[in-house]
Amino acid sequence: VRATRGGEEVRGYVPSMGQIFMRRFQMVTQFRQSLEDGQVSVHYQPKVSLPNRQVQGVEALVRWVHPEFGRIDPDEFVPAVEAAGLIGALTEFVLEEALHRVRKWLDDGLRISVAVNLSVRNLADEEFPRRVSQALERVGVPPELLTFELTESGVMSDPQKALPILRELHALGIVLAVDDFGTGYSSLAYLRQLPVDQVKIDKSFVLGMGTDLGDLAVVRSIVELGHSLGLTVVAEGVEEDVARDQLEAMGCDVAQGYLISRPLSEERLEAWLQARTARTPGRHAEAVLTL
Ligand code: C2E
Ligand code: MG
Ligand code: MG
Ligand code: MG
Repeated sequence: VRATRGGEEVRGYVPSMGQIFMRRFQMVTQFRQSLEDGQVSVHYQPKVSLPNRQVQGVEALVRWVHPEFGRIDPDEFVPAVEAAGLIGALTEFVLEEALHRVRKWLDDGLRISVAVNLSVRNLADEEFPRRVSQALERVGVPPELLTFELTESGVMSDPQKALPILRELHALGIVLAVDDFGTGYSSLAYLRQLPVDQVKIDKSFVLGMGTDLGDLAVVRSIVELGHSLGLTVVAEGVEEDVARDQLEAMGCDVAQGYLISRPLSEERLEAWLQARTARTPGRHAEAVLTL
């Protein structure tokens, strides 16, 4: 039997509809407990600014190791958790972990920002900005060290609800980024309507730009138009030196991808940072990365 999933060929075994349904059912009914049982954790992927290649921040990415299913891809369980109305608990968990991480870095003299992915459902929750603001205060993290990433479709599915919430978050001083840019149906012009600071070029274009002139053109135009709107431009999916060099030449501000690092567990990230931190005696340490 042959099937494709996410572009990869899966041979030999195709789950039945019943099995898919059961797996999804188990995921959503067990999710809350899995948070308490420590099956869910947060990994962090570093981002570096170009051209100086300093560690500028990390993206928080949720991980779930299920006792029966093993590692479940967030692209599978996040939508399921979202549809089941449980995204509030997931976002809160990731946000708490991420804020405590930033606080710990501050205590160590490191100023590193963290980006947390939001779901469209978070942007429909009127209480969300207040809870975020309370968490920032409680943990002791300045709002400019927190970024929220949201997808275009997330905002556009219900702009009437999402916009006031985005404005509130922005007014708190939190950095807002549009994730996976270029994959939705919206144009850069519509970005002007949103209170956003950053645009993240979807990894599909960045991965393709070495071999596909169309992808290269998309990347170039997002960088240029992003800048003309005063936005910081981040490229995700930077896997090769060539891509990083091209992005640097285009003036792209920040690079994220396997070339810099894969997402890392908290412990592995600490070691990764430690190896790249140049400390100046008597001054605040700065994390300097040379690739
Ligand atoms: P995303 O926010 O666009 O995150 C970037 C994804 O690209 C991550 O996949 C990351 O591991 C992957 N990636 C990073 N660099 C490279 C690279 O150089 N090459 C390739 N091929 N891939 C790269 P991941 O961790 O599997 O997450 C997938 C998606 O799941 C995320 O896409 C995001 O939409 C969602 N997600 C992850 N964590 C959370 C979360 O805490 N909350 C919410 N709501 N969604 C999350
Ligand atoms: Mg993201
Ligand atoms: Mg993305
Ligand atoms: Mg994505």
